[in-house]
Amino acid sequence: MENRRNFLKKSALASFSASSIISCDQELKNIKKEIPRIISTWNHGLAANNKAWEVLKSGKGGLLAVEEGVKVTEADPNVRSVGLGGYPDRDGIVTLDACIMDKNSNCGSVTYLQNIKHPISVARLVMEETPHVMLSGKGALDFAVSKGFKQENLLTEQSKKDWITWKEKSDYKPIINIENHDTISMLAIDENGDLYGACTTSGAAWKMHGRVGDSPIIGAGLFLDNEVGAAAATGLGEAIIKTSGSAMVVELMRQGHSPMQACKIIVDRISKLHKKGPEWDYLQVGFIALNKNGEYAGYSLRKGFNFSLCDEKNKDLLIDADYKIG
Ligand code: ASP
Repeated sequence: MENRRNFLKKSALASFSASSIISCDQELKNIKKEIPRIISTWNHGLAANNKAWEVLKSGKGGLLAVEEGVKVTEADPNVRSVGLGGYPDRDGIVTLDACIMDKNSNCGSVTYLQNIKHPISVARLVMEETPHVMLSGKGALDFAVSKGFKQENLLTEQSKKDWITWKEKSDYKPIINIENHDTISMLAIDENGDLYGACTTSGAAWKMHGRVGDSPIIGAGLFLDNEVGAAAATGLGEAIIKTSGSAMVVELMRQGHSPMQACKIIVDRISKLHKKGPEWDYLQVGFIALNKNGEYAGYSLRKGFNFSLCDEKNKDLLIDADYKIG
């Protein structure tokens, strides 16, 4: 078992210098349980995990770790579905959604936030400094500004160009795994076995102005229960909201399902619900899950989803998630 896994890692390392890529197969599921551990959606999770790991190991806590981790992605203009440089809505406006949750089920969220590079930090302050869980739009912006956040233009030249090109056809049919599936969701378990999560996005590309997806909704884009585990989502937010995706994955783990089984059950449910809908052609959803033992999984409806893992043994590990449809 061990040899096969090492072989997978080595052969992947031979062709990829920055990170190793392995298949999420049976051997992977049997990786020895260990904590602390961090998993994040997509390959931009690699850099985010590194930052989060550094914070976690410095003893500053899991909450700061997930916040600082996803801030790396928010600040990267080359990540086209999160923060600065994210694809705008169909009116050319970048609107951001984010949420954060801690081991005590405290949570904070912002939706439809504009001109603030780090919505995750605003979400954290909503959690810590208001009696509420969610702030939206102008209220969220006013709150951010009152806390000293600087307003800035998040629409980069590249995003503007892409928007102008999109407008020529104005066809809302997101390209699977590219245009609307790049939220960063991060789950962390610390050395005490406590769970933390963060999720941040500019949402589906070319969405209607005012649209809010799953990512800032506790239970949809992110959920954790410190007794059980944590889950987070990426993909078409409308489909994830309709099943309360992340909360259901956690609930299934509570009932004894492994992270992989729990993710699969929810993806199957989503698949069944949407098979006959017009959105089927562009539907992609992916979940990551982490339980109290540090066991983890990633699973998606369609091929192409990957997630990043960081722990004592594995730094910079990019894992191709299992999927339902090739
Ligand atoms: N889930 C996000 C949304 O629907 C999109 C994504 O994952 O990129 O807003």
